Amino acid sequence: MMRKPLCPPFNVDQAARRKRIRAGMVDRDFPDFEPLDLVAKQQAQMMRRNAQSSDCRWSAVGQCTADDICREPNRCQAACLLGNWASRGDTILDAHDQLMSHSSQFHLVTVVNWGWARDTGNLYDLKPRSMHRWLQRRIQHLKGIRGIACVEASLNTVGSIELWQGEINLVSTGASYQELSKALKLSSSTPVPKPVMIKAIQPGDLAHVLAYITKPLPEGRVAYEADNGRQAQRYVRVPSAHLREHDAWRMSMLMRDRLLVIGMRLAQSGTEKCR
Ligand SMILES: [Zn+2]
Repeated sequence: MMRKPLCPPFNVDQAARRKRIRAGMVDRDFPDFEPLDLVAKQQAQMMRRNAQSSDCRWSAVGQCTADDICREPNRCQAACLLGNWASRGDTILDAHDQLMSHSSQFHLVTVVNWGWARDTGNLYDLKPRSMHRWLQRRIQHLKGIRGIACVEASLNTVGSIELWQGEINLVSTGASYQELSKALKLSSSTPVPKPVMIKAIQPGDLAHVLAYITKPLPEGRVAYEADNGRQAQRYVRVPSAHLREHDAWRMSMLMRDRLLVIGMRLAQSGTEKCR
């Protein structure tokens, strides 16, 4: 039986949309935005690793193809990588231009709160909305701040322990380094060596950093002690079983549920009227 797609096909020129996103990234110094054929391969791998899933929504995601990407990200689950590509494309272009229209000084802020760690198997319990609320409470007094924040979970290995670590990445303008570090201060007495990191972003890197913070798939990180005695991390592949858990986590939310838009309004992507 054919299942109804999650994201109904639309009578629009998909090729034109892909071309617009691609050209928009080139115009904003980011020609390396993920090629769509690579995303289609990742989507196919994701479909294979979830082939045994009892969640019937997977068969609906399987109907999104590179030639017919879901056109309604507001209804598509965040699991869909092709839908993510298109939705992120629109979000990055729009956020880039709005941030640039305010300032040319930007920060990338990464907050790794130990309270957002979850045992493997319990990632479902990590709620982007409550992480957003934490951030909103911390920055509500910074009246001029604008930005876009995205929740992610990375698979961290510390010694013999593996866990999901939730984090928020924020690209912001309108608040200084000092204001941000004061507002977001976290105790360093937790197992997270550097709970808050703030870096300046060059305007030419803005689109690239926006793509980085909104990437849908998780990173695997292994903590080790570097030669200089400091804590460091290296990146590793996330095993399939854990990727499946992350896929299920994204299946539990809509495309934009990981995003928090601060002090500005993004145009709704993919809101073309359904046939
Ligand atoms: Zn889709």
